[in-house]
Amino acid sequence: MTTMDKVVIKRWTPYPFRQFILKIHGRCDLACDYCYVFTKADDRWRTRPPFMARSTMRAAARRIAEHASTHRLPSVDVVLHGGEPLLAGPTELAYCLDVLRSVVGSATTVGIQLQTNGVRLDDALLRLFARHRVRIGVSLDGERSAHDRHRVRANGTGSYDLVATALRRLGRPPYRTGPHHRRDGRRGRTRRMPTG
Ligand code: SF4
Repeated sequence: MTTMDKVVIKRWTPYPFRQFILKIHGRCDLACDYCYVFTKADDRWRTRPPFMARSTMRAAARRIAEHASTHRLPSVDVVLHGGEPLLAGPTELAYCLDVLRSVVGSATTVGIQLQTNGVRLDDALLRLFARHRVRIGVSLDGERSAHDRHRVRANGTGSYDLVATALRRLGRPPYRTGPHHRRDGRRGRTRRMPTG
């Protein structure tokens, strides 16, 4: 038995998952040259459904609820991700948010985050996310030249202007909230996810 085995046996106990990533849309409206989803050898995304079906949203919410109940979790975090999750559109996004909030139930607080490239983040979506208390992460690679070096549209032009506009919208009241206060009293900030 190795030292590591002994440490594992002595100290490690399984820890229930508390964060779930739902890839609700599997395509993207940008064509970043470093994207690990769309530019690398693994191209299985081509044969997968472009967006998450409602039945899958409901099944995922039921499974999260079951897990939270089994492990008596006071809170879980769900991250809506992609591809680009805003491509799902406001109707499907609202449906997904409603399902997550209603199926998981009141014993567990569901903190919801969304990681986006920002291109479609308009006021209507921001109102929807404010209503559902969704924390939003926007992917930005720095100032214009750094961002536009890699985060480009299909025609090769940079996305900085669109993202900067989205960030200005996000920075205005009532969407600007500063450090995020969760309903369970814990503080948190939106985290950068690997793509989006
Ligand atoms: S925005 Fe994200 S998912 Fe879309 S191409 Fe860029 S890195 Fe990939």
